[in-house]
Amino acid sequence: MSLIEQTEEEGTFRDNLSTIHKDGSRNWIYVQKPAGHYYNRRTAVSIVLLIFLFLSPFVRVGGHPFMLLNIIERKFVLFSIPFWPQDFYLVVLLVLTVLVSFVLFTAIFGRIWCGWLCPQTIFLEMLFRKIEYAIEGSAVKQKILDATAFNREKFIKKGLKHIIFFGLSFIIANTFLAYIIGSDELITIITDPISKHIGGLVTITVFSFVFYAVFARFREQACIVVCPYGRYMSSLVDDDTVAVTYDFTRGEPRKKPSKEDKLQKQGLAVQTAPRGDCIDCHQCVNVCPTGIDIRDGIQLECVNCTACIDACDTIMTKVNKPKGLIRYTSFNAVKDGIRHKVKPRIYAYGIVLLILLTTVSYLFITRPDLDILILRQPGSMFQKMGTDEYANFYIFQGINKTYKDLQIEIQLVSPKQGKITLLGSLSPITNQTTKEMRFILTLPKNELTSSQTKVRFALVSNGKILKEVESSFVGPESP
Ligand code: SF4
Ligand code: SF4
Repeated sequence: MSLIEQTEEEGTFRDNLSTIHKDGSRNWIYVQKPAGHYYNRRTAVSIVLLIFLFLSPFVRVGGHPFMLLNIIERKFVLFSIPFWPQDFYLVVLLVLTVLVSFVLFTAIFGRIWCGWLCPQTIFLEMLFRKIEYAIEGSAVKQKILDATAFNREKFIKKGLKHIIFFGLSFIIANTFLAYIIGSDELITIITDPISKHIGGLVTITVFSFVFYAVFARFREQACIVVCPYGRYMSSLVDDDTVAVTYDFTRGEPRKKPSKEDKLQKQGLAVQTAPRGDCIDCHQCVNVCPTGIDIRDGIQLECVNCTACIDACDTIMTKVNKPKGLIRYTSFNAVKDGIRHKVKPRIYAYGIVLLILLTTVSYLFITRPDLDILILRQPGSMFQKMGTDEYANFYIFQGINKTYKDLQIEIQLVSPKQGKITLLGSLSPITNQTTKEMRFILTLPKNELTSSQTKVRFALVSNGKILKEVESSFVGPESP
């Protein structure tokens, strides 16, 4: 029996959302604070990611941004490497590679992104929820506080929490803005008089309210109802995917400890019904941020946060049973008591990822520092110079993608004889800029092969050929 058949047979939980009442109103989840081995690891990972996220747009390497995603001006810097709109093919390939790697890792390890790396989960679980525990106390205390009529204590706690939540949302919104417009621009906006940036302030306040609403109220609904990634990723999971899984072969039949169990523990010969290791304590449900019961099987709402693993391990330790009743494993591994199988589709995803990685690496390594275009001036004809020479006009366009100024010169590679006359200054092409210029190429009559002679230019910098460019030279029908 497959996982889906098995779970559908067992209950109606797939027809209902634990966070929505039957009448459609919200069932607010009071999540018990997780603690344990996995939670500590997730905290460590989150600290690294939060430091990276909040600091990256403000870090400068050699005076240049470390990360910039300026979609408005089409300027992109990833890990200090500048990308131009001309490199768009690389960005598309890079995004494709990241997507395929998500597909591969999800097919093998389930929704590891959702639980460990997604900004929504990290902000909610590691910042907002921790602030809530610090101000309002445990899940039980939060529930009591919500049920209490408004009094001084409630006013102070709720007020303080929401002020901090909004402040944090404002910081998050500004950080994302720094990624887009750059930290210098952001600091200028902050230090300028407010009257100069009313529009910007309104926009950032709106975004801050959106973040505030998501983290203060909407919470897990973003993963369950809105996030397309969660749904898409869930479709990649099958019975062999390693995910947070309840070991039903060991846990069932679940049963709360009874009087008979206690007597049996004391060494008395009391008959008890057969039972599994699950003591039906509901701790795995109490810590679940999406309010599900993992014992029902893998579910769309499960973000693989591992909180239920920690909760159950704590219980197992208390009742002197081995840890791992809920663990990272696959449904088939639990059902058949075997190691995880690697299916052919995993190899297929792996091969596609390898091809993409190789292609992206090759294109990235061979990406020229200078993008050059040489075109014959559109609409122009040849000029006869004296008795046996002809001239054509050309347009030169160069994009210096590096952070250093480039000294370059144009040389004629073929034909052998000919003269280049620049109509402006070519060098230097300053860093991160585009230069446009015109020049004249004069060829002697004997170098013309037809009315369209092929010509080849070399762009040379410090004696090194950066690129060769081909164009055509227009001459008379019979030179
Ligand atoms: S925490 Fe473990 S023992 Fe308790 S209900 Fe969940 S699976 Fe059963
Ligand atoms: S079932 Fe477990 S792993 Fe899944 S979201 Fe709930 S607590 Fe996290």
